[in-house]
Amino acid sequence: MERETHILLFAYPVQGHINPMLQFSKRLASKGLRVTFVTTISIGNSMQALPSHSINVEIISDGSEEAKDAESIDASLERYKLHVSQSLSKLIEKHYSSSYPPKILVYDSIMPWALEIARKIGIDGVPFFTQSCVVNAINYHANHGAIQMPVEEGASISLPSIPSLGFDDLTSFLCDKGMYPAWLELALNQFSNFQEANLLLCNTFNELENEVVNWMTSQQWPVKTIGPAIPSIYLDKRLEDDKEYGVHLFKPDVDACMKWLDTKESDSVVYTSFGSLASLGEEQMDELTRGLKNSNCYFLWVVRETEQKKLPPNLLQETSEKGLVVSWCPQLEVLAHKAIGCFMTHCGWNSTLEALSLGVPMVAMPIWTDQPTNAKFIVDVWKVGVRIKLDERGIATKEEIELCIKEVIEGERGKEMKMNSVRWKELAKEAVDEGGSSDKNIEEFVAKLVNS
Ligand code: UDP
Repeated sequence: MERETHILLFAYPVQGHINPMLQFSKRLASKGLRVTFVTTISIGNSMQALPSHSINVEIISDGSEEAKDAESIDASLERYKLHVSQSLSKLIEKHYSSSYPPKILVYDSIMPWALEIARKIGIDGVPFFTQSCVVNAINYHANHGAIQMPVEEGASISLPSIPSLGFDDLTSFLCDKGMYPAWLELALNQFSNFQEANLLLCNTFNELENEVVNWMTSQQWPVKTIGPAIPSIYLDKRLEDDKEYGVHLFKPDVDACMKWLDTKESDSVVYTSFGSLASLGEEQMDELTRGLKNSNCYFLWVVRETEQKKLPPNLLQETSEKGLVVSWCPQLEVLAHKAIGCFMTHCGWNSTLEALSLGVPMVAMPIWTDQPTNAKFIVDVWKVGVRIKLDERGIATKEEIELCIKEVIEGERGKEMKMNSVRWKELAKEAVDEGGSSDKNIEEFVAKLVNS
């Protein structure tokens, strides 16, 4: 089949933003579009070969080739925008004058400036939101002055179609503006020009965030939910060869993890990971190691290489019979393994969607950004997990960790959570399967594009 309708997708180069957009790209390709996936040089070498019939990949400069080692967050974001504005513009122009000029640029919503770049060249742009719709709505309200920032400790916030949120349930940037001002700006700026876009693509599914999605629609926002954007083999299995995302920014220890899990009984292992960015203090690592040990469960713990120096050496030796520590793992394959009984997670949005899609109950230990809000929904709305309470020092103690793990793996409430998880797993599959809410939205998007 000659693929005539060409679409460009542009991802921000961190794991949690590349994964969903790459998955969405594969879905579009499976519906007959000519797809070019664009990302920047800092991750270029990590892309694995994608099935040849699927999508083309283009890597453009983001200036990281010449960046200084000790760059501040502000400097790196500024450098990124400056270089990418030029390289993205050049890339779109190159394709625009080819035999298959692209019709549209889908860009990560944290780069709202990409819309103007696309339109200047003559194609439309559509933002792709990689966080939950609830978090998107909160950022919108914050950007429009409906939230007094920084939110004060003890305060709670009421927003349309969202349950009341306490201080601990809010995005960390809203509570402490001074902590990461550049990232707060990035989060809020997603809503600086969104009303100019003709469509808003969101990596979630209607059934999961029904109320807030309805609210957005009632506000005339052109929202389309297209998720969960995870490899098809874990959901509808309609995409051939779609077994993994296709890019790991860290080297996964596949064999070690899978062989070890194969030796464990069903539902006996706690999988622990805090994603690709979050970092724990030494004291917290110590409490966590002891909590995992005291739970008496098997545990598979991802500790990125840069974090490993914080591990207490003796304790790890003591727990070597019960635990396996790796620097990165194939998370989806791990979550899908029958040995996994629960996922102790930082509640990054991809990890949350992955656990929901694979029916794994969670112990929520949010660290920052949108994670506290995701944790609130995991516990109180979707009822698929418990949340670790922090002590007065802001530490998750070993006692609390042990208690929460036992509650999910052994407790009565754990059984309920498991049942709820299985229900979400079915709903996630239905959403992306033929005729499901996300599938229909993707079909509609493709049909409009082809006929435009
Ligand atoms: N991930 C992985 N192996 C690991 C840890 C994480 O493949 O050992 C993947 C995980 O499946 C998810 C992504 O990395 O797709 C992390 O995204 P998330 O939004 O959960 O967290 P972030 O890293 O952005 O904080």
